[in-house]
Amino acid sequence: MKIVKTIDEVRRQVKEWRAQGLSVGLVPTMGYLHEGHASLIDASHRDNDRTVVSDFVNPMQFGPTEDLESYPRDIERDAALVEEHGGDIIFNPEPSEMYHEGFSSFVDMNVLTQELCGLSRPVHFRGVCTVVSKLFNIVQPDRAYFGKKDAQQLAVIRHMVDDLNMDIEIIGCPIVREEDGLAKSSRNTYLDAEERKAALVLSQAIDLGINMVRNGETDCTVITDALKKHISAEPRARIDYVKIVDLATMQQITTIDRPALCAIAVYIGKTRLIDNFFTEDV
Ligand code: AMP
Repeated sequence: MKIVKTIDEVRRQVKEWRAQGLSVGLVPTMGYLHEGHASLIDASHRDNDRTVVSDFVNPMQFGPTEDLESYPRDIERDAALVEEHGGDIIFNPEPSEMYHEGFSSFVDMNVLTQELCGLSRPVHFRGVCTVVSKLFNIVQPDRAYFGKKDAQQLAVIRHMVDDLNMDIEIIGCPIVREEDGLAKSSRNTYLDAEERKAALVLSQAIDLGINMVRNGETDCTVITDALKKHISAEPRARIDYVKIVDLATMQQITTIDRPALCAIAVYIGKTRLIDNFFTEDV
């Protein structure tokens, strides 16, 4: 397992693998890896001969008041996890390696990004699409792995790959949770002990929603009202959004009469956490 800092070196290595007829999987991450990331690396290791894990806190996907500076980083720890899960390269470029002076080309999308996280984070998906396109061009993987935890991101990437004819199979992987239900996230490290307890309202709300759908509830307002009520009872929680959207368009719907996504974003103190369920998985 190698830590690689330059685009040239990743390209050289992937070319060598290609010459041997080996398949390549890519797992894009922002590092500070946990078992959620590990599950993507495991899936890639299972499906491909070689796995590249990118580990890059992408400045372009953070808004001016967001947590770019404080985002946790620990490349040595990340490298150990990647090695343990069968990854072959961890690509950890400096921002200047990814964005040279005068960088001015972007990949953006005006569908799927108008709702949910796109509303509260206006520059986010442009940053995600641009960096993921760059990573796809650098690594040219057969397959790339994304978590359903970031459900809107997964939809946006699938759409981008389709629109731009990128010959890469996109694999969506289930959400990995802590034992008590909290979805694993690098941002969970921001939570103090009291906030960590309070953060359970997210997964509890998701469970509540799953149960309502299982019991046949199809009225989106009835479901989202119940989730909001549960979350609002926690004084440390502040709702950003609780919404049910059409999985294909990411537009809000009133009745669950097609594949849908129930997605929530909640501030616990200053930390913004997300969680969701897909109705097709219920
Ligand atoms: P991040 O480093 O947070 O940008 O995440 C990198 C990738 O890991 C994204 O595709 C995420 O959806 C995925 N991921 C993050 N947390 C989880 C989790 N708890 N379960 C599954 N996938 C996850």
